[in-house]
Amino acid sequence: MSEFPHLRGFSRSELIELFAGLGEPRYRADQVFRGLHGRRLMSFEEMTDLPKALREKLSQATTTRTLKVESKYTSIDGTRRFLMKTPDGHPVETVFIPTENRDTICFSSQSGCPLKCDFCLTAKLGLLRNLTAGEIIEQIVIVLNDVYGIGNDTPHGTNLVAMGEGEPFLNFENLIKALEIMSDENGLHIVPGRVTVSTAGIVPKIFEFSELENRPNLAISLSAANDELRDKLMPINKRWPIDKLFEAAKAFEKTLKRGERFTFEYVLLGGVNDSDAQASELASLLRKYGLRKVKINLIPHNPAEQLDYRPSSPEQVKRFKEILESQDVSAYIRTPRGRDIFAACGQLAAVQQTSVC
Ligand code: SF4
Repeated sequence: MSEFPHLRGFSRSELIELFAGLGEPRYRADQVFRGLHGRRLMSFEEMTDLPKALREKLSQATTTRTLKVESKYTSIDGTRRFLMKTPDGHPVETVFIPTENRDTICFSSQSGCPLKCDFCLTAKLGLLRNLTAGEIIEQIVIVLNDVYGIGNDTPHGTNLVAMGEGEPFLNFENLIKALEIMSDENGLHIVPGRVTVSTAGIVPKIFEFSELENRPNLAISLSAANDELRDKLMPINKRWPIDKLFEAAKAFEKTLKRGERFTFEYVLLGGVNDSDAQASELASLLRKYGLRKVKINLIPHNPAEQLDYRPSSPEQVKRFKEILESQDVSAYIRTPRGRDIFAACGQLAAVQQTSVC
Protein backbone atom coordinates (compact mmCIF):
# COMPACT_ATOMS: atom_id res chain seq x y z
CA MET A 1 0.00 0.00 0.00
CA SER A 2 1.04 3.58 -0.51
CA GLU A 3 2.73 5.38 2.40
CA PHE A 4 0.52 8.44 1.73
CA PRO A 5 -3.30 8.58 1.91
CA HIS A 6 -4.76 7.83 -1.51
CA LEU A 7 -7.06 10.79 -2.21
CA ARG A 8 -8.99 8.94 -4.92
CA GLY A 9 -10.47 6.82 -2.13
CA PHE A 10 -11.70 9.85 -0.14
CA SER A 11 -15.39 10.66 -0.26
CA ARG A 12 -16.29 14.31 -0.90
CA SER A 13 -17.00 14.90 2.80
CA GLU A 14 -13.71 13.29 3.81
CA LEU A 15 -11.85 15.55 1.37
CA ILE A 16 -13.61 18.62 2.78
CA GLU A 17 -12.56 17.56 6.28
CA LEU A 18 -8.98 16.96 5.17
CA PHE A 19 -8.81 20.37 3.50
CA ALA A 20 -10.30 22.06 6.56
CA GLY A 21 -7.44 20.50 8.55
CA LEU A 22 -5.00 22.03 6.07
CA GLY A 23 -6.66 25.41 6.51
CA GLU A 24 -8.09 25.28 2.96
CA PRO A 25 -11.65 26.25 2.01
CA ARG A 26 -14.29 23.76 0.97
CA TYR A 27 -14.25 24.78 -2.70
CA ARG A 28 -10.63 23.62 -2.96
CA ALA A 29 -11.73 20.14 -1.86
CA ASP A 30 -14.46 20.23 -4.52
CA GLN A 31 -11.88 21.22 -7.17
CA VAL A 32 -9.67 18.30 -6.20
CA PHE A 33 -12.63 15.87 -6.21
CA ARG A 34 -13.60 17.05 -9.71
CA GLY A 35 -9.97 16.83 -10.85
CA LEU A 36 -9.54 13.26 -9.59
CA HIS A 37 -12.87 11.85 -10.74
CA GLY A 38 -14.73 14.16 -13.15
CA ARG A 39 -11.61 15.18 -15.13
CA ARG A 40 -9.78 11.91 -14.39
CA LEU A 41 -6.46 13.70 -13.83
CA MET A 42 -3.64 11.51 -12.65
CA SER A 43 -1.48 14.02 -10.74
CA PHE A 44 -1.71 17.25 -8.75
CA GLU A 45 0.51 18.97 -11.34
CA GLU A 46 -2.30 18.61 -13.86
CA MET A 47 -4.73 20.43 -11.53
CA THR A 48 -3.73 23.84 -12.80
CA ASP A 49 -6.80 25.45 -11.24
CA LEU A 50 -5.10 24.99 -7.84
CA PRO A 51 -2.37 27.35 -6.61
CA LYS A 52 1.11 25.89 -7.09
CA ALA A 53 1.82 26.02 -3.37
CA LEU A 54 -1.25 23.92 -2.61
CA ARG A 55 -0.34 21.39 -5.29
CA GLU A 56 3.08 21.05 -3.71
CA LYS A 57 1.65 20.76 -0.22
CA LEU A 58 -0.73 18.01 -1.37
CA SER A 59 1.90 16.01 -3.21
CA GLN A 60 4.13 16.02 -0.14
CA ALA A 61 1.51 14.39 2.07
CA THR A 62 -1.01 12.56 -0.14
CA THR A 63 -1.17 10.69 -3.44
CA THR A 64 -3.44 10.47 -6.48
CA ARG A 65 -1.95 7.42 -8.10
CA THR A 66 -0.39 4.22 -6.81
CA LEU A 67 -0.95 1.51 -9.44
CA LYS A 68 1.61 0.79 -12.12
CA VAL A 69 0.41 -0.63 -15.43
CA GLU A 70 2.72 -3.56 -16.13
CA SER A 71 1.13 -4.86 -19.33
CA LYS A 72 -1.83 -4.35 -21.62
CA TYR A 73 -3.21 -6.99 -23.92
CA THR A 74 -5.78 -6.56 -26.68
CA SER A 75 -7.91 -9.48 -27.85
CA ILE A 76 -8.94 -10.09 -31.44
CA ASP A 77 -12.49 -9.31 -30.26
CA GLY A 78 -11.47 -5.85 -28.95
CA THR A 79 -11.43 -6.80 -25.25
CA ARG A 80 -8.48 -5.31 -23.39
CA ARG A 81 -6.83 -6.72 -20.27
CA PHE A 82 -4.74 -4.49 -18.01
CA LEU A 83 -2.30 -6.07 -15.61
CA MET A 84 -1.33 -3.56 -12.92
CA LYS A 85 0.74 -3.78 -9.74
CA THR A 86 0.20 -2.22 -6.34
CA PRO A 87 3.21 -0.47 -4.71
CA ASP A 88 3.72 -3.60 -2.57
CA GLY A 89 3.90 -5.76 -5.69
CA HIS A 90 0.45 -7.38 -5.90
CA PRO A 91 -1.39 -7.86 -9.19
CA VAL A 92 -4.60 -6.03 -10.05
CA GLU A 93 -6.37 -7.03 -13.26
CA THR A 94 -9.01 -5.04 -15.05
CA VAL A 95 -10.79 -5.90 -18.27
CA PHE A 96 -12.42 -3.53 -20.75
CA ILE A 97 -15.15 -5.16 -22.80
CA PRO A 98 -16.57 -3.11 -25.67
CA THR A 99 -19.90 -4.03 -27.25
CA GLU A 100 -21.93 -2.17 -29.83
CA ASN A 101 -24.11 -0.18 -27.44
CA ARG A 102 -22.23 -0.23 -24.18
CA ASP A 103 -18.80 -0.62 -22.68
CA THR A 104 -18.22 -2.68 -19.58
CA ILE A 105 -15.29 -2.63 -17.20
CA CYS A 106 -14.77 -5.77 -15.15
CA PHE A 107 -12.74 -4.71 -12.11
CA SER A 108 -10.97 -6.41 -9.21
CA SER A 109 -11.89 -5.96 -5.57
CA GLN A 110 -9.03 -8.02 -4.15
CA SER A 111 -5.60 -9.01 -5.37
CA GLY A 112 -5.98 -12.79 -5.80
CA CYS A 113 -8.90 -14.51 -4.07
CA PRO A 114 -9.22 -16.59 -0.89
CA LEU A 115 -12.11 -18.71 -2.22
CA LYS A 116 -11.19 -21.90 -3.94
CA CYS A 117 -13.64 -22.25 -6.80
CA ASP A 118 -12.36 -25.31 -8.58
CA PHE A 119 -12.90 -23.98 -12.12
CA CYS A 120 -11.21 -20.59 -11.60
CA LEU A 121 -7.59 -19.66 -12.25
CA THR A 122 -7.66 -16.69 -9.85
CA ALA A 123 -8.16 -19.20 -7.03
CA LYS A 124 -4.63 -20.46 -7.69
CA LEU A 125 -3.23 -17.08 -6.56
CA GLY A 126 -4.83 -17.30 -3.11
CA LEU A 127 -5.63 -14.03 -1.35
CA LEU A 128 -2.81 -11.51 -1.63
CA ARG A 129 -4.73 -8.62 -0.08
CA ASN A 130 -7.87 -6.49 -0.21
CA LEU A 131 -7.69 -3.47 -2.50
CA THR A 132 -8.29 -0.07 -0.94
CA ALA A 133 -11.19 2.08 -2.15
CA GLY A 134 -8.62 4.33 -3.87
CA GLU A 135 -7.09 1.38 -5.72
CA ILE A 136 -10.52 0.08 -6.80
CA ILE A 137 -11.34 3.46 -8.32
CA GLU A 138 -7.88 4.09 -9.73
CA GLN A 139 -7.87 0.91 -11.86
CA ILE A 140 -11.13 2.06 -13.49
CA VAL A 141 -9.83 5.60 -14.11
CA ILE A 142 -6.66 4.17 -15.68
CA VAL A 143 -8.72 2.01 -18.06
CA LEU A 144 -11.09 4.86 -19.01
CA ASN A 145 -8.16 7.19 -19.73
CA ASP A 146 -6.36 4.54 -21.76
CA VAL A 147 -9.41 3.81 -23.89
CA TYR A 148 -10.85 7.31 -24.32
CA GLY A 149 -8.02 9.70 -23.43
CA ILE A 150 -7.65 11.64 -20.18
CA GLY A 151 -10.95 13.13 -19.10
CA ASN A 152 -12.70 12.53 -22.45
CA ASP A 153 -16.36 11.53 -22.48
CA THR A 154 -17.25 7.87 -22.60
CA PRO A 155 -19.55 7.59 -25.62
CA HIS A 156 -21.85 4.91 -24.23
CA GLY A 157 -21.39 5.57 -20.52
CA THR A 158 -19.75 2.80 -18.58
CA ASN A 159 -21.10 -0.31 -16.94
CA LEU A 160 -19.10 -1.81 -14.13
CA VAL A 161 -18.99 -5.41 -12.96
CA ALA A 162 -17.17 -6.53 -9.84
CA MET A 163 -16.14 -9.85 -11.35
CA GLY A 164 -12.39 -9.49 -11.71
CA GLU A 165 -9.95 -10.90 -9.14
CA GLY A 166 -11.43 -11.45 -5.71
CA GLU A 167 -14.69 -11.96 -3.86
CA PRO A 168 -16.17 -8.43 -3.60
CA PHE A 169 -18.20 -9.16 -0.47
CA LEU A 170 -15.02 -10.09 1.43
CA ASN A 171 -13.90 -6.48 0.88
CA PHE A 172 -17.37 -5.05 1.47
CA GLU A 173 -16.56 -1.70 3.06
CA ASN A 174 -13.95 -0.63 0.53
CA LEU A 175 -16.10 -1.83 -2.35
CA ILE A 176 -19.21 0.05 -1.24
CA LYS A 177 -17.20 3.17 -0.48
CA ALA A 178 -15.57 3.07 -3.93
CA LEU A 179 -18.96 2.59 -5.62
CA GLU A 180 -20.43 5.52 -3.69
CA ILE A 181 -17.55 7.78 -4.70
CA MET A 182 -17.86 6.68 -8.34
CA SER A 183 -21.58 7.44 -8.40
CA ASP A 184 -21.06 11.15 -7.53
CA GLU A 185 -22.36 13.40 -10.29
CA ASN A 186 -19.29 15.63 -10.02
CA GLY A 187 -17.08 12.62 -10.47
CA LEU A 188 -17.29 9.53 -12.67
CA HIS A 189 -21.08 9.53 -12.25
CA ILE A 190 -21.44 5.78 -12.66
CA VAL A 191 -24.81 5.25 -10.98
CA PRO A 192 -25.66 2.05 -9.05
CA GLY A 193 -28.02 0.90 -11.83
CA ARG A 194 -24.97 0.53 -14.09
CA VAL A 195 -23.04 -1.59 -11.60
CA THR A 196 -23.29 -5.32 -10.91
CA VAL A 197 -21.59 -6.98 -7.96
CA SER A 198 -21.00 -10.70 -8.34
CA THR A 199 -20.61 -12.89 -5.27
CA ALA A 200 -19.77 -16.55 -4.82
CA GLY A 201 -22.27 -16.56 -1.95
CA ILE A 202 -21.16 -14.67 1.18
CA VAL A 203 -24.63 -14.95 2.70
CA PRO A 204 -24.52 -12.35 5.54
CA LYS A 205 -23.21 -9.76 3.09
CA ILE A 206 -26.00 -10.49 0.60
CA PHE A 207 -28.45 -9.56 3.38
CA GLU A 208 -26.44 -6.42 4.19
CA PHE A 209 -26.21 -5.48 0.50
CA SER A 210 -30.00 -5.93 0.11
CA GLU A 211 -30.55 -3.29 2.76
CA LEU A 212 -28.39 -0.59 1.17
CA GLU A 213 -30.36 2.43 0.09
CA ASN A 214 -28.67 2.83 -3.29
CA ARG A 215 -27.55 -0.65 -4.02
CA PRO A 216 -26.15 -1.85 -7.34
CA ASN A 217 -27.36 -4.99 -9.15
CA LEU A 218 -26.52 -8.41 -7.80
CA ALA A 219 -25.23 -11.56 -9.47
CA ILE A 220 -24.73 -14.80 -7.55
CA SER A 221 -22.35 -17.37 -8.91
CA LEU A 222 -24.17 -20.70 -8.52
CA SER A 223 -22.80 -23.29 -10.98
CA ALA A 224 -24.52 -26.26 -9.33
CA ALA A 225 -28.08 -26.96 -8.22
CA ASN A 226 -27.29 -29.33 -5.34
CA ASP A 227 -24.98 -29.15 -2.34
CA GLU A 228 -22.98 -32.24 -3.18
CA LEU A 229 -21.73 -30.84 -6.48
CA ARG A 230 -21.54 -27.22 -5.31
CA ASP A 231 -19.40 -28.25 -2.30
CA LYS A 232 -16.89 -29.59 -4.77
CA LEU A 233 -17.01 -26.80 -7.34
CA MET A 234 -17.33 -23.89 -4.90
CA PRO A 235 -16.15 -24.86 -1.40
CA ILE A 236 -17.71 -21.70 0.08
CA ASN A 237 -20.92 -23.77 -0.20
CA LYS A 238 -19.81 -25.84 2.82
CA ARG A 239 -20.04 -22.69 4.91
CA TRP A 240 -23.24 -21.36 3.36
CA PRO A 241 -25.08 -24.16 1.56
CA ILE A 242 -27.76 -23.69 -1.05
CA ASP A 243 -30.72 -23.32 1.35
CA LYS A 244 -28.96 -20.46 3.19
CA LEU A 245 -27.87 -18.89 -0.10
CA PHE A 246 -31.38 -19.01 -1.48
CA GLU A 247 -32.85 -17.47 1.68
CA ALA A 248 -30.50 -14.53 1.10
CA ALA A 249 -31.37 -14.45 -2.61
CA LYS A 250 -35.04 -14.36 -1.67
CA ALA A 251 -34.40 -11.39 0.66
CA PHE A 252 -32.63 -9.59 -2.17
CA GLU A 253 -35.45 -10.38 -4.61
CA LYS A 254 -37.90 -8.65 -2.27
CA THR A 255 -35.98 -5.38 -2.73
CA LEU A 256 -36.33 -5.40 -6.52
CA LYS A 257 -38.61 -2.90 -8.15
CA ARG A 258 -41.09 -3.76 -10.85
CA GLY A 259 -39.32 -5.03 -13.96
CA GLU A 260 -35.95 -5.52 -12.20
CA ARG A 261 -34.22 -8.88 -12.00
CA PHE A 262 -31.08 -10.31 -10.52
CA THR A 263 -28.76 -12.92 -11.94
CA PHE A 264 -27.47 -16.37 -11.17
CA GLU A 265 -24.24 -17.11 -13.00
CA TYR A 266 -23.80 -20.73 -14.02
CA VAL A 267 -20.42 -21.77 -15.44
CA LEU A 268 -21.04 -24.72 -17.74
CA LEU A 269 -18.44 -27.46 -17.30
CA GLY A 270 -18.58 -30.28 -19.83
CA GLY A 271 -19.80 -33.57 -18.31
CA VAL A 272 -19.88 -32.07 -14.80
CA ASN A 273 -22.91 -29.75 -14.43
CA ASP A 274 -24.34 -29.46 -17.94
CA SER A 275 -26.67 -32.46 -18.36
CA ASP A 276 -30.35 -32.21 -19.27
CA ALA A 277 -31.24 -33.51 -15.80
CA GLN A 278 -29.09 -30.81 -14.17
CA ALA A 279 -30.86 -28.10 -16.18
CA SER A 280 -34.21 -29.40 -14.86
CA GLU A 281 -32.79 -29.62 -11.33
CA LEU A 282 -31.82 -25.94 -11.56
CA ALA A 283 -35.29 -24.95 -12.75
CA SER A 284 -36.93 -26.89 -9.90
CA LEU A 285 -34.59 -25.30 -7.36
CA LEU A 286 -35.80 -21.84 -8.45
CA ARG A 287 -39.41 -23.05 -8.26
CA LYS A 288 -38.87 -24.54 -4.80
CA TYR A 289 -37.78 -21.15 -3.44
CA GLY A 290 -40.33 -19.24 -5.49
CA LEU A 291 -37.63 -17.12 -7.15
CA ARG A 292 -39.18 -15.47 -10.19
CA LYS A 293 -37.36 -12.17 -10.75
CA VAL A 294 -34.25 -13.92 -11.82
CA LYS A 295 -32.29 -14.73 -14.94
CA ILE A 296 -29.61 -17.32 -15.48
CA ASN A 297 -26.41 -16.33 -17.25
CA LEU A 298 -24.87 -19.44 -18.75
CA ILE A 299 -21.11 -19.02 -19.00
CA PRO A 300 -19.29 -21.56 -21.14
CA HIS A 301 -16.18 -22.54 -19.16
CA ASN A 302 -12.98 -20.89 -20.32
CA PRO A 303 -10.38 -23.63 -20.54
CA ALA A 304 -6.90 -23.39 -19.01
CA GLU A 305 -4.12 -25.94 -18.77
CA GLN A 306 -4.05 -25.79 -14.96
CA LEU A 307 -7.75 -26.65 -14.64
CA ASP A 308 -9.24 -30.13 -15.02
CA TYR A 309 -12.38 -29.03 -16.81
CA ARG A 310 -13.51 -28.75 -20.38
CA PRO A 311 -16.18 -26.50 -21.84
CA SER A 312 -19.58 -27.92 -22.68
CA SER A 313 -20.26 -28.43 -26.38
CA PRO A 314 -22.10 -25.54 -28.06
CA GLU A 315 -25.04 -27.92 -28.68
CA GLN A 316 -25.28 -28.81 -24.99
CA VAL A 317 -25.07 -25.13 -23.97
CA LYS A 318 -28.00 -24.46 -26.29
CA ARG A 319 -29.93 -27.46 -24.97
CA PHE A 320 -29.35 -26.42 -21.35
CA LYS A 321 -30.79 -23.01 -22.14
CA GLU A 322 -33.79 -24.49 -23.94
CA ILE A 323 -34.60 -26.80 -21.03
CA LEU A 324 -34.54 -23.85 -18.61
CA GLU A 325 -36.72 -21.78 -20.91
CA SER A 326 -39.18 -24.64 -21.37
CA GLN A 327 -39.65 -24.44 -17.57
CA ASP A 328 -40.22 -20.68 -17.57
CA VAL A 329 -36.72 -19.67 -16.53
CA SER A 330 -35.03 -16.83 -18.48
CA ALA A 331 -31.60 -17.91 -19.58
CA TYR A 332 -28.90 -16.21 -21.61
CA ILE A 333 -25.66 -17.53 -23.00
CA ARG A 334 -22.72 -15.24 -22.26
CA THR A 335 -20.40 -15.03 -25.26
CA PRO A 336 -16.86 -15.54 -24.00
CA ARG A 337 -14.75 -12.39 -24.47
CA GLY A 338 -10.98 -12.05 -24.49
CA ARG A 339 -10.16 -15.76 -24.12
CA ASP A 340 -7.00 -15.35 -26.23
CA ILE A 341 -5.55 -12.81 -23.77
CA PHE A 342 -6.60 -14.59 -20.53
CA ALA A 343 -9.24 -11.93 -19.90
CA ALA A 344 -12.33 -14.15 -19.85
CA CYS A 345 -14.26 -15.26 -16.76
CA GLY A 346 -12.20 -17.35 -14.38
CA GLN A 347 -8.99 -16.69 -16.33
CA LEU A 348 -7.58 -13.75 -14.34
CA ALA A 349 -4.41 -15.01 -12.73
CA ALA A 350 -1.88 -12.30 -13.54
CA VAL A 351 -0.74 -14.24 -16.60
CA GLN A 352 2.05 -12.43 -18.43
CA GLN A 353 2.05 -12.95 -22.17
CA THR A 354 4.82 -12.29 -24.59
CA SER A 355 2.83 -10.27 -27.15
CA VAL A 356 2.13 -7.04 -25.30
CA CYS A 357 -0.02 -4.56 -27.22
S1 SF4 B 1 -14.72 -17.57 -9.20
FE1 SF4 B 1 -14.57 -15.58 -8.14
S2 SF4 B 1 -14.88 -16.12 -5.98
FE2 SF4 B 1 -14.36 -18.04 -7.02
S3 SF4 B 1 -12.12 -18.23 -6.81
FE3 SF4 B 1 -12.53 -17.19 -8.77
S4 SF4 B 1 -12.37 -15.01 -8.28
FE4 SF4 B 1 -12.66 -16.10 -6.33
